[in-house]
Amino acid sequence: MMKDEFHEFYKKSVEERLRILKHAAGLTDDEINMLKSGAIGIDVADRMIENVVGTCELPIGLGLNFMINGKEYMVPMCTEEPSVVAAASYAAKLAKAAGGFKTSSDEPIMIGQIQILGFKNFESAREAIIKNKARIISKANERDSVLVSFGGGAKDVEVREIDSEIGKMLVVHLFVDVRDAMGANAVNTMCEVVSPLLEELTGGHARLKIISNLADRRLARSKAVWKKDELEKSTKGLMKGKEVVNAIIEAYQLAANDPYRCATHNKGIMNGIDAVVIATGNDFRAVEAGAHSYACISGKYKPLTRYYKNKDGDLVGEIELPVAIGTVGGATRTKPEAKIALKILGVKSARELAEVIASVGLAQNFAALRALATEGIQRGHMRLHAKNIAVTAEARGKNIDTVAAKMIEEKNISVSRAKEILDKMH
Ligand code: NAD
Repeated sequence: MMKDEFHEFYKKSVEERLRILKHAAGLTDDEINMLKSGAIGIDVADRMIENVVGTCELPIGLGLNFMINGKEYMVPMCTEEPSVVAAASYAAKLAKAAGGFKTSSDEPIMIGQIQILGFKNFESAREAIIKNKARIISKANERDSVLVSFGGGAKDVEVREIDSEIGKMLVVHLFVDVRDAMGANAVNTMCEVVSPLLEELTGGHARLKIISNLADRRLARSKAVWKKDELEKSTKGLMKGKEVVNAIIEAYQLAANDPYRCATHNKGIMNGIDAVVIATGNDFRAVEAGAHSYACISGKYKPLTRYYKNKDGDLVGEIELPVAIGTVGGATRTKPEAKIALKILGVKSARELAEVIASVGLAQNFAALRALATEGIQRGHMRLHAKNIAVTAEARGKNIDTVAAKMIEEKNISVSRAKEILDKMH
């Protein structure tokens, strides 16, 4: 590698970076062209992050059958994982028989944290902050007149005391209504702006000034009923509806009482959630951090969903989690595919999008539990997995399906077997 060529790499043009990279990594012209040719456009990408040398594509599949509060949605889902889109669409179809998903959500309140150290007395520092709440809020709002014009902005202030190995800390929470934004930039700026005033009021110094991803004031909820008769039909009569309902509740109870299962249970929820979050250009790390920290807010790591039987013996599923996403800001308006995804969804606000996302998470989780409790997860999954393995073994075109089908029939899905089948076909 020619180290000097990488000096101030970020200042170079994309073409220049690619020339250096091509040489350093021994890439071919085709490989360089592939790196450059995503829908996002290399020039847009170059304005989004640093040291850009390409873009990375993932498939977008359409989640179907989502009837939410009486409205049908087409849900763009961006993921590399086979079966996710099919499973979510199937779960939504089964839920539709009982009216689909019913949702609700909180106002879009995000929490900004300002850590204050070196204050003299906690009680007098807290009192000074509470007395000057209005001043703090108005100082924060001076910085985002656009947000305020939409009815958002800083709304409240809270003071917390945190014990630590290095002594007591004072943490100020700034509650900001971020309307249709995810809100991190907006909140971070406000935290920085109010810090000198907090220092003046407390006699301490402000260290961290940053949003919290545990957005527990911004929860989205969804609920659906899966009728036992529909569940029976889904097993093609192999199991009684009542048995399926009980088996799903048993599966859920393991997650509710065992963190080893619960991690996978919640991962399955995030399969659906992340797919929509990514398709709409939102920050999936923020949503992941929020989801998992909320899952252990009681001190124990718990499922983000809940299942029980209603009086008719049908299965009820519910989900509740923080969904800090936006329909403006971040990459939602800069990434062309994100704009298209929002157009396909037809959502009018970040809250509506959050409720759709929660519904997809619930559907995804139900689908996994239904499969696990009935035929087992691998049957459907392996069909798509076999196709991926066939492609890895360099099958192309119609050969992909032929090789995949043969491997499934033989119950031997591996790259080496795919290669043998392909060799015989040539
Ligand atoms: P942003 O600053 O791009 O957009 C928000 C701004 O848009 C608002 O402050 C407001 O001025 C304006 N706006 C216009 N119309 C609006 C409307 N209808 N509703 C609300 N605001 C409106 O983005 P953001 O949402 O403040 O921040 C999101 C970005 O921050 C993401 O890219 C995320 O990755 C990044 N980020 C995340 C973290 C974290 O999660 N810990 C930390 C730092 C940055």
